[in-house]
Amino acid sequence: MSSKTGKVYLVGAGPGNVDLLTLKALRLLQTCDIVLYDQLVSEDILHLIPRHVTLENVGKQRSFHPVPQVQINQRLIDLALQGNNVLRLKGGDPFIFGRGGEEIDSLKEQGIPFEVVPGVTAANGVAAFAGIPLTHRDYAQSCLFVTAHLKEGSFDLDWSALVRPRQTVVIYMGLHGLDRLATELLQAGMAPDMPVALIEQGTREAQRVVITVLDKLYQESIDHALKSPTLIIIGSVVELQNKLSWFN
Ligand code: SAH
Repeated sequence: MSSKTGKVYLVGAGPGNVDLLTLKALRLLQTCDIVLYDQLVSEDILHLIPRHVTLENVGKQRSFHPVPQVQINQRLIDLALQGNNVLRLKGGDPFIFGRGGEEIDSLKEQGIPFEVVPGVTAANGVAAFAGIPLTHRDYAQSCLFVTAHLKEGSFDLDWSALVRPRQTVVIYMGLHGLDRLATELLQAGMAPDMPVALIEQGTREAQRVVITVLDKLYQESIDHALKSPTLIIIGSVVELQNKLSWFN
């Protein structure tokens, strides 16, 4: 440690498979002083961190926040001011449903130097390992990433935008409230037989892929006892999974 202010690296760890880590992330993991990581970061990735680097779990689980966001922001500032090079490690990409913007905003306010290292977001990594192309000339010309995290018991989503034709919808954090989500999509006009993939622990050894249709979505998630992290992919591209799956 030195009296000179350290730097904060906001780093995406990808969806869990170590091979999807960027070279820059790996290099920083091996040279930083301390790593503050989230619940979503896989054990395999944590194992790459040398023993001399301090590890701090600031993991958040739905409705169970061991370390509130403001406290994480403050911790990053304090550690950097003490002269540490701090690696803030997040699942997937820090700028996609990762609150990365909020964390660097408070660093900026305090004049702490930082860098952002992108990661493979769940949509990219998980779709690839499940054998589902998110776009395809014959099926979907656009792709939407959506978070279906319930806020005070309700969704804040533009349902009409979600049911547009020739589009793939990728839903993050959608497991809790899945029954409501399916009902809203049906009411907005999405076909009950629209193909849906539920992918648990995507890109990891324990990956499970459940293929179903919209009106059976909720029941299937219960039958298979799916747990977080699970990504939901909705759209006709899901039909291709049968032919294109390659992992496992
Ligand atoms: N910043 C992250 C997303 C954080 S939100 C990213 O870019 O990927 C957390 C949600 O991401 C989970 O609820 C789940 O829907 C999805 N997710 C992340 N990793 C996943 C994985 N390995 N398998 C399936 N879903 C995953």
